[in-house]
Amino acid sequence: MNERTAAMPWAQLQAKLSLRFSDSEFETYFRSSKVTRWENHTLELEAADPFRRDWMSQHKARITEILQEASGDSRLVVSFRAPEREEGDGRLMVAEHVAMALPIEERVTPLNPAFTFTNFIVGPNNRFAQAACRSVAEHPSKSYNPLVLYGGVGLGKTHLLHAIGNLAVAHQAGLKVLYISSENFMNEMISVLRSGGDMRLFRDKFRNTDILLIDDIQFLAGKESTQEEFFHTFNDLHSHGKQIVATSDIPPREINLDERLRNRFEWGLVADISRPDYETRLAILRGKAREERRGVPDGVLEFLAQTFTHNVRELEGSLVKILALSSILDREINLDLAKEALRDALKAQARPVSIESIQEAVTNRFGLKLSDMKARKRTDAVAYPRQIAMYLSRELTPASLPEIGAAFGGRDHTTVIHAINKVEQKMKQDTDLAAVIEKLIQQVKGVA
Ligand code: ADP
Ligand code: MG
Repeated sequence: MNERTAAMPWAQLQAKLSLRFSDSEFETYFRSSKVTRWENHTLELEAADPFRRDWMSQHKARITEILQEASGDSRLVVSFRAPEREEGDGRLMVAEHVAMALPIEERVTPLNPAFTFTNFIVGPNNRFAQAACRSVAEHPSKSYNPLVLYGGVGLGKTHLLHAIGNLAVAHQAGLKVLYISSENFMNEMISVLRSGGDMRLFRDKFRNTDILLIDDIQFLAGKESTQEEFFHTFNDLHSHGKQIVATSDIPPREINLDERLRNRFEWGLVADISRPDYETRLAILRGKAREERRGVPDGVLEFLAQTFTHNVRELEGSLVKILALSSILDREINLDLAKEALRDALKAQARPVSIESIQEAVTNRFGLKLSDMKARKRTDAVAYPRQIAMYLSRELTPASLPEIGAAFGGRDHTTVIHAINKVEQKMKQDTDLAAVIEKLIQQVKGVA
């Protein structure tokens, strides 16, 4: 064991953690945790309950980094556990906390009036999802229940959730609609437990709603206790004929969920949203410019629609930057100003990325040979980096799935889809991987 580590009491490490996490995070998660094992570069922390353990696991990379630095032990490995569960249905576990009825911390986000169907541009990429959402908003619980929207980041899932809520309330006054992200569902549950609040109030709040809009359920991956609580909420709502709409940025069947819960999400309709085509991107930009009441020359909008192809948030963001620069400098909006406003983003887009350059960067990073990318080998050491390279090829090049498969030793496009999904899912759970991928992206784009 490292001597310094051994000599350093937990209180001292806690002090370091308190500097690096917010006050409320520290109080919620670390204050009540204790060390249950600390030897041979291994530190095991026991969280107060499984919910908090799940949160810590989610932040493992950051916690490990802080504790390594604080203890001077760069090989320190941190693991998390929770006290043994009580027997029973898993809900008994919280019964002891049900003492006083404290007011529940409000984490429910009010519906955003800016996200409506009126300003949601429909294109081939989202037509089906939009129609399903409208139908649910107009006839809650009578069409698809649950409805699950699935699509990549920044493609309009959250927008549609709010649009459902806004339209449903407009149609039917008094309807109770609740929007919450999965992360806040978990946070709220934890804070009720922590404050000794009444879990019944927490449950009632969710169960007394007519439409539950739950965002980003991929976040529930691997969080067993939160899933369990949500499973009961789901059943309760569904059996009382209440509407549930969820979103996910990975296919629901591929989220690491308890079988029972995954099943529930598959009961209804899964509608996917893909990347918008050029026409749709242009229409979105026109809509946005109109909303902002700014005249933007067509040439500028076309340039943006050609340049930002992956993500509507990025596309809109580019326009917002141009509008801002034009206001600040009091200059007319034209192509020159656009290029100036977007200099950094354009630099990143400028260099065409080839699949070969991705393969090269990935093999360098993982110490493999270029031929491994095309080889049949299936060992983890080769297969995993290969999946990452396929994922990057999809993200950074215009190549189609079959073209990507061909560039990786003639693999089928379903293999490529599988690889992409796998990497996306892993990235959700593993912040280290997300960082590795971010670095690789910078590297192949030549902006590192
Ligand atoms: P997601 O939840 O899928 O990550 P969001 O719903 O947050 O994406 O969308 C990102 C931004 O793009 C939002 O400002 C949203 O209004 C806008 N947006 C996405 N799709 C459309 C669309 N089809 N029409 C208009 N705006 C859109
Ligand atoms: Mg969203």
